[in-house]
Amino acid sequence: MTAAYRSRADALRWMAQGGAILGRALAALPDDRLDGPSRLPGWSGRHLLAHLAANADALVNLAHWARTGEERPMYPSPERRDADIEAGAALPAAELRAWLARAALTLDARLAELDRSQWERHVRTAQGRTVTAEEIPWMRAREVMVHAVDLGAGVEFDDLPAGFLAALIDDIAAGRSAAGPALVLTATGHDGTWTVPGSGEPARVTGTLAGLAAYLSGRRSDGVTAPGGGPAPRLPRWL
Ligand code: ZN
Repeated sequence: MTAAYRSRADALRWMAQGGAILGRALAALPDDRLDGPSRLPGWSGRHLLAHLAANADALVNLAHWARTGEERPMYPSPERRDADIEAGAALPAAELRAWLARAALTLDARLAELDRSQWERHVRTAQGRTVTAEEIPWMRAREVMVHAVDLGAGVEFDDLPAGFLAALIDDIAAGRSAAGPALVLTATGHDGTWTVPGSGEPARVTGTLAGLAAYLSGRRSDGVTAPGGGPAPRLPRWL
């Protein structure tokens, strides 16, 4: 199916909602819990916070690019991105929290400055995709929402807005490389299906919107089933 229409206003709203969901989870999380593992392999809560703060800084770079036309990549290089996450994860918790809050506010302010033609300007993502600046709030919404779940601090995909979940499934279904199995996804209580290109006869997979979003993003697949109730096929990593 063709992707549902996702407006800039939708993306900005989800970015704000995701920031609030993440903020509430973090406010309830004691500093020492950040030392423990997140749900992402090899990453502590501190790594996740450093990544979220650095991602906001990186998107500020894209907003600058859109506003001025002066090319400013998200990260100087993939190696620097990873090194900065490692270095950030070693910061005291209070500094990490302050960095994240400051970077998120700066991103809000920089996006609020963009005029109509600047929103349409082309920028390049860290994955090398050329997109318009319209994609920036969506990219941020995706990061804050999905990583709020990855924090393992009480937020689950079920807690995320349904419109966001449907847009996330649209996005991943359209963007997943054909390296994995071909899929046809049906969400219970939701009109339409999604097709994911890939190898073999398409596997028919059913779940809730939240379940399918978790499954497609490579997080968890409980409650997502193939015909007959068996488990859905395993997927390669995403994001
Ligand atoms: Zn991320």
